[in-house]
Amino acid sequence: MTIAEDNLIERIRRKVPSAPGDSLLLAIGDDAAVLRAKTNRDWVITCDQFIEDVHFLANRYPAEVVGYKSLARATSDIAAMGASPEIFLLSLAIPQERTGKWLNEMIGGMARAARKFGLRLAGGDTSRTEKIAMSITVMGTVGHGDELLRRDGAGPGDAIFVSGVLGGAELGLRLILRGEDNHKKFRRLLVPQFYPRPALELGQRLARKRFASAAMDISDGVSIDLQRLCKASGVGARIYAERLPLVAVPPELRRLQFDALELGLHGGEDYGLLFTVPRRMISRLPQRFRAVGLTRIGEIVGGRGVKIVGTDGRESGLKAKGWDHFRLHPEGIPRLAYEARWVRRN
Ligand SMILES: [Mg+2]
Repeated sequence: MTIAEDNLIERIRRKVPSAPGDSLLLAIGDDAAVLRAKTNRDWVITCDQFIEDVHFLANRYPAEVVGYKSLARATSDIAAMGASPEIFLLSLAIPQERTGKWLNEMIGGMARAARKFGLRLAGGDTSRTEKIAMSITVMGTVGHGDELLRRDGAGPGDAIFVSGVLGGAELGLRLILRGEDNHKKFRRLLVPQFYPRPALELGQRLARKRFASAAMDISDGVSIDLQRLCKASGVGARIYAERLPLVAVPPELRRLQFDALELGLHGGEDYGLLFTVPRRMISRLPQRFRAVGLTRIGEIVGGRGVKIVGTDGRESGLKAKGWDHFRLHPEGIPRLAYEARWVRRN
């Protein structure tokens, strides 16, 4: 490790919560950190990448957003298990020219997210690259007696719910890709894309009250995520277009011809929860949790495949058109980099 690299880690350590405490016995500064789970709790662990041109555009996303969102995305998988976040590790690769102001602002956003989610940084590694690449490992815990929110417990007859709004993050992304993100009046529409909120309290509530037979977070779009949940549970599903809590596209954006149903079905990154509730529990589930709506969008059925009933009452197969990293774009480059070429501004 060079002195310059020591300096980067020291700058991160100073701003992001990282002091020993709770489950962190030995913090940054030694060869490795030492953790101890609280009595009667199990560890839950996940990792997530956040890469320039693949997950974000470095000159269109404020540095503070990159810091906040990288940690929020990773923490959402902890929420989706019904666990409480505790510790995270950061691998950070950045170009030399981003080690100054950009890095300070990025760390500021990450520190804010860490405080909000109750996370301590236990360690990190940095290196220099051409493009920004982050990998974050988050660890949380669940009590031995608590139910885990798994994907594989859905059964025929269970109701399917989603939390929050569908398509908000995708609408924000499309505004960025169309170069409409600079209009002041559209700023609020970028919030779901920039500052997703992992459903931590909701996940813990669903787990503790045993409301959900299966659950996951909506990271790649309902159409693809619901298929994943069904596959894990060995069941099929039917959802209803008119019940989906779709993002409201403002009338001023009509000229851009966004289809709210398409944004809501196939748009990723909303990070609400998709969960199934056995019949006997449905009446006990509140309609809202804090300020977030819980919407019943359909039901689990026997067999395979996901069907959607359109607003015209007709049923058809739902194609999984959510986010897929390995779907090829015409020039074989990542989706964001490809689509960003069409941005009129710049
Ligand atoms: Mg997930």
